[in-house]
Amino acid sequence: MVLRRGANLDDAKGLNRRVAFEAIYRNGPISRNAVATRMQVTPQTVSNIVADFEAYGVIEERPIHTGKKGKPAREYTVQPNSILNIGLHIDQHNVTGVVTNVDGQDFGRQRAKLANQEPDYVEGVAAGIVEKLAGGDPSFGSRLLGVGVAMPGIFRDGVFLSGNALTMTNWKGHPLAQTLSRRLGLPVFVENDATTAAIGEGLFGEARNVASYVYFYFGLGLGGGLMINGTQYVGAHNRSAEIGHMIVDPGGRPCPCGNKGCLERYASLFSAYQAITGSDTEFEAVPPKAISEAFRSGDTRLKAWSKVAAKHLYTGINILQNVIDPEVIYLGGQLPKELLEELGRSVLEQHQASQKDPEISARLQLRVVDGDVALGAAALPLSTLLNPPVNGHTGLDYVRPTEGSSLYNLLAG
Ligand SMILES: [Zn+2]
Repeated sequence: MVLRRGANLDDAKGLNRRVAFEAIYRNGPISRNAVATRMQVTPQTVSNIVADFEAYGVIEERPIHTGKKGKPAREYTVQPNSILNIGLHIDQHNVTGVVTNVDGQDFGRQRAKLANQEPDYVEGVAAGIVEKLAGGDPSFGSRLLGVGVAMPGIFRDGVFLSGNALTMTNWKGHPLAQTLSRRLGLPVFVENDATTAAIGEGLFGEARNVASYVYFYFGLGLGGGLMINGTQYVGAHNRSAEIGHMIVDPGGRPCPCGNKGCLERYASLFSAYQAITGSDTEFEAVPPKAISEAFRSGDTRLKAWSKVAAKHLYTGINILQNVIDPEVIYLGGQLPKELLEELGRSVLEQHQASQKDPEISARLQLRVVDGDVALGAAALPLSTLLNPPVNGHTGLDYVRPTEGSSLYNLLAG
C-alpha cells in the first residue's frame, strides 16, 4: 500500500506551492477562486503563494474581461519564458543538449561527439554544453529551473545501477546526479532515456492530455515508460516498463538478461541492425543511419525483420493492453518514423483480426511519435515539481544543491 507521507508545516508550504503552480500551469489562465477550489484552500492562501511567484516574474496576473461593470476579476497565467530548462541526452556517441521554456519550446541545441564513455570525461562534455546553451544571457541563471539528464541504464538515487550498453561498463555505481550537480551548481535530474522520452511526451508532446499511456522507446534495445493517472509508475525496484524483456517467444533467441525470447531480441535498433548486417556482436555501436538507409533502399532483409518484429510486438502490446488498459500506446525512438508506422499498422491489423468484439478492438490506440529524448530530458525538472513525492520518492532521481537553485526552491518550497 502506498501512503502519502505526512506533512509538517514546512512540507505543507512546499506542497501548496507545487499544487498552486501546477493548477495555474495546467489550467491557466485561471481565476484565483478556481485555483482555490481546485486546491481546497482559501482564496487568500492562493494570493499569498502567488504573490511570491509574481515577485519572481513567474506568474502574471491580469484582469478578466467579462464585459460587466465594476472591479474586474483577476486571472493567473504562467509566463512561459520565465522558466527555462536544460535537457541533456547522453548516448554512446554524443551528448545532445537543448534549452526550452516551460511549454517545451525549443530555444536552441548543442551537440558534441564523445571520444570515449568515461564518466568524468562525459560529464565534462555535458557541462561544456550547458555552458554553451546558457552563454551570453545574464538572466539565464535566475530563470533556469534545472538540468535533466537522460541516458541508457537504470538509476536509483541518482546512481547508475546497471545498463546493457557494454561500452558504459565504468558507469556502474557512478553517482551521476550528485557529481554533475556539484560541477554545475544546479539541480540535476537523472532518468533512463526511454522513460524520459515517455515523460517528455506527457509534458510537452502528444500525450499532454492523456492520463494513462505506455511508451515503447526503440533505442539500441527496447525500453519504455508507464504513466498511470498522470504519474510515472516506477515499480518496487525502479524497473517498471522494462518492456523489452517481456518474453514473447518462449525458448526463443537468448537475451543477455538470461532469459530467452525477450521482445527486444526481435524489436529494437540492435535487432534490425543484426538483420541487415548479419552481425551478432552484442550491442555494438549501431548507427541509426544504417537502418534508415536500408529502409529507404527497400532492403528485403529489413522487410523480413519488420514482419517478425511486428508479430512479437503485437504479443507484447496485447499483454500490456490487457494488464494496464492504457488510453494510448506510443511508439517512438531511433528507428525511422516510417518504419515505426509500418510496425504500428501491422500491430493494428493483427489486433483487429483477432479481437471479435468491435468495442474492444477500438480500444487499441496506437500512435507514432518523434521520441526526442533531449526534449524529454528538459521536461524532467518540471515533471518532478508536478509530481510531489509519494513516500519521499518522485520516481526521478535528483539532487537539489543549496546554491544556484533559487527558482526550483521558489516553486518547490
Ligand atoms: Zn531479456
